Formats: sequence, C-alpha cells, structure tokens
Amino acid sequence: MNVPLLDLQAQYVSLRDDLQQAVARVMSSQRFVLGDEVRALETSIAEYCQAKHAIGCASGSDALLLALMALDVKAGDEVITTPFSFFATGASVARLGARPVFVDIDPHTYNIDPSRVADAITPRTKVIMPVHLYGQCAPMDPLLELGRRHGIPVVEDAAQAIGATDNGRRAGSMGVIGCFSFYPTKNLGGAGDGGILTTSDDEVAARLRRLRTHGGSNEYEHEEVGINSRLDELQAAVLNVKFRSLDKWSDERARKAEIYTKLLSDADLQFPLVTPQVRSGGRHIFHQYVIRVPGNRDALMEHLKTHGIGSKVYYPIPLHLQKCFDYLGYKKGDLPESEAAADETFALPAYPELTEEQQIYVVETIKRFR
Ligand SMILES: *Cc1c(COP(=O)(O)O)cnc(C)c1O
Repeated sequence: MNVPLLDLQAQYVSLRDDLQQAVARVMSSQRFVLGDEVRALETSIAEYCQAKHAIGCASGSDALLLALMALDVKAGDEVITTPFSFFATGASVARLGARPVFVDIDPHTYNIDPSRVADAITPRTKVIMPVHLYGQCAPMDPLLELGRRHGIPVVEDAAQAIGATDNGRRAGSMGVIGCFSFYPTKNLGGAGDGGILTTSDDEVAARLRRLRTHGGSNEYEHEEVGINSRLDELQAAVLNVKFRSLDKWSDERARKAEIYTKLLSDADLQFPLVTPQVRSGGRHIFHQYVIRVPGNRDALMEHLKTHGIGSKVYYPIPLHLQKCFDYLGYKKGDLPESEAAADETFALPAYPELTEEQQIYVVETIKRFR
C-alpha cells in the first residue's frame, strides 16, 4: 500500500467542476487583482474568524510582515516568538531590522510556553507573536494578559490554524492581528501562494489595506512606504469554492487524529511513542498530526518510507539555530525543548481523504518497527 504524506489530487477530484468554473469566471472577467472574488473571500473569512475585517495579501509570510509593519515594528525593536515554527515567523521580524527573541516551547503541545514569555519582556519588546502550531492554538489567555499588563500587542501567526478555537474564540480574533496562509498544503489551500490578515481594529485594518498597496490609499498618493502584496482573483475564486468545505475537512482531519491516537495507544509498542496532546477548551484542526519518538525518529521514518508511507519533520532546525540568525548569538542548548522537539518529532499522513484502511496500515507498519 502507498500512503503519501498529503494527497491534493483526492481533494481536487471532489471539487473539479466548481473549481474549473470559478477559474473560467475570472478568466472571462479579465479582472485579476483585488476584485469581487477577493472581496467575497475577505467577507467570508472575517465572519468565519470572528473578526471585523479581513485583508487579503500575497502569502502567509507577507501577512506576518504586513502585521508587524502595521504595528510599527522597526530596527531596535524586539518581537517575542517561538523558535519551533516555519522560517517565515522569525524572518518577518528580521526582515524589518527588528530582533526576534525566541522563547522555548511547552514540550507537550510544542507551542510557545507563556510562563517563559514574561522573563523575555524588555522595554524594547514591541510585539508578542505566538504561533498556533499544527492547528492548535497557543494558550492565548496568559499571553493576552501579559500583553495587556505591559501594553504590548499580540499578533497571532495562525497560518496553520484557520478555524481553531481557544476558549470559544477563533484563531485570528484574539490578538490585535491574525495572520493566515493559503499555501496549497494548508487546511484551506489555494492554487499557489496567498494569505489574509484579520483584525477588529478599524485603524489597523485601514493601515493594512494601504500597506499592501504600496502604502497608498489611492493609486498615486502614498502616506507611507508599503509593499506590493495583494491576493489575486484567481486565488480568491479557488479559495471561495474550497472555503465551503473547510469545516468538513478540518473535522475529518481531527477524526483521523482520534483514530491514530486510539490505534497507537492500543498498539502495545516496544518503544516510546508520544501522541499529540490536545488542550481542553479548544478546537484543534490538525493541520499536522505530529508524534514524538525519542531516540528512534529517523530510523522509524526510514522504516515507514521503505513501506510506502510518507512522513515529514516540521521542523528539523529550530529558528534560533538557523545560520542566518547566527548574529543573534544563540547557541545549541539555549532552548532545549525546541531542540529536542526538532530531533524527536515528525508528522504522519492525516489529510481528510485518508482512509481508515490506510491508517491501520500506517499503525501496523509502526508496530513492526524494531
Ligand atoms: C505556512 C506558514 C507561514 C507562511 O505562509 P506562506 O503562505 O507559505 O508564506 C507562516 N507561518 C507558519 C507557522 C506557517 O505554517
């Protein structure tokens, strides 16, 4: 049996006619940038994420950059974030000349540990930026409380967590700004790059709209220098079609996760394997189903590969150990939980169309690992 890490074909087949019509509609209109499709998507996403505004942009990476620009992050500022994330999280800070301050993670959820954030706050801290890793919200209450106490805005990197909740609030509605990615492999993925920002602050929304169009409120008048980062109509048309299935897909992913966790817990394995911890009081949308195998990770992944099963490490090098961040002065051992997670965890296939038969095969293959 063959079990890829992700199978986008299966999803495409289920929506082919609608997607092709949507693309044909945009081609007939010959309107490609910031038109009706983008406006419709912005309306849907704002409502879905319990935010007053949603502002489309060119990628999740740009969403992070635009969010920090809208909060005036600049050289000399510090932004507190997690080192256990996709590169864009730290890069958005560094791109603006500010300093990413990496705070270690909770070893059970892999999200930033709020109890360590307090110690990292300095007079230069401009933003606290948690990541809702793998589709589970970082513990927002203690982070928001710290932000309130110190007057520091919180930006959510919700690129992996559209539709996730924490105590009844949707990802992207809790911080001042939420940042989302429509990269094709995300729970809501386009046919290329795309992203969106959410906010309920009217002024921040207006500024984000300017910043994504070179800082101008109209074509030739510029209040400030922004960037060119717009969501295009073809992407929005595809996303408008796929958005209707998002909740169904995320529920399916969560169901696959439940099945894996049950099968793996009953498996009587001869080696330690830790299944994902789901915090109570929230919805985990399982962008990834990540397990932990201390000591044996690479050998188990190789064993799975030999048996036709895809898997992947998210992420093998924590950001504080990336070559480009040498100048920040971190060294190996500084953030031990993130480093251990990078060495011991990996994702199993857990996309919505995965069959139970495939899941049983994955777990039976893991059971045979010695
Ligand atoms: C995917 C992702 C991003 C970047 O999104 P792109 O659309 O690929 O630019 C940022 N942060 C996290 C946590 C992500 O997973």
